[in-house]
Amino acid sequence: AVQAKGVHKAFGSLHVLKGIDLTVMPGTVTVILGPSGSGKSTFLRLINQLETLTGGEIDVDGEMIGYKWVDKDGQRVLQTLDDKQIAAQRAKLGMVFQRFNLFPHMTTLENVMEAPVHVAHKSKSEAREEAIKELQRVGMGDRLDYYPMQLSGGQQQRVAIARALAMHPDIMLFDEPTSALDPELVGEVLNVMRSLAQGGMTMICVTHEIGFAREVADQIVFMDGGVVVEKGGPEIIDNPTEPRFKDFLNHVL
Ligand code: ATP
Ligand code: MG
Repeated sequence: AVQAKGVHKAFGSLHVLKGIDLTVMPGTVTVILGPSGSGKSTFLRLINQLETLTGGEIDVDGEMIGYKWVDKDGQRVLQTLDDKQIAAQRAKLGMVFQRFNLFPHMTTLENVMEAPVHVAHKSKSEAREEAIKELQRVGMGDRLDYYPMQLSGGQQQRVAIARALAMHPDIMLFDEPTSALDPELVGEVLNVMRSLAQGGMTMICVTHEIGFAREVADQIVFMDGGVVVEKGGPEIIDNPTEPRFKDFLNHVL
């Protein structure tokens, strides 16, 4: 599970997140909606420790991320985790970004094998076998030796998903994975995400794909101005309560 408790984030004087509370239960899909600049990416980046909190707490699988409580002279104080501990926490999460960030000089297969070999220290043969399995799962089993520039955007994004899955994350974070794609390529990526969800993966997805949200999400979160304005089951898409959410839906639908 992922649990955000009163999460704040400021960049200098810019207060981007102003107290986010959110629980994502294991095996469920949460879709985060919200206008540009509302702090959606920042929130995902905090969960994955690509940014540090300025207030509040995030727990992943019941463990506070980034910090631990220690006893110091009879007082309980917060201590930042070391790099190794942070890496261990981050290994529970897979993340897919808007821009396919594959290594351009590596083939599909090499991209997916990279972290299992160099981060998880698996043998090449084991990593290769698993990478092929993950690539087959996203429908890319027939493109093992292609370089990213020889693939369509949708194919690259599916390789990026396979690459994240190859590290066996408990939770997948998606930050607008289809918004840089040509419209005809969006469906193939959403299909992979849908089948992941059906397989029981815990997912937090920032996306403007309302159809996907309605069909796949267990929980919808509408963020605006650094706060959660409305939250509920997928039915809130068709019955929004908050005026700001209504406005937003009128613009994206
Ligand atoms: P979009 O839909 O356009 O992707 P978003 O909801 O993901 O928007 P964020 O990327 O989280 O929004 O950004 C929220 C605010 O935080 C923006 O005003 C942005 O300029 C600011 N911001 C994000 N990252 C940084 C940073 N590293 N330094 C300074 N400001 C930042
Ligand atoms: Mg964003």
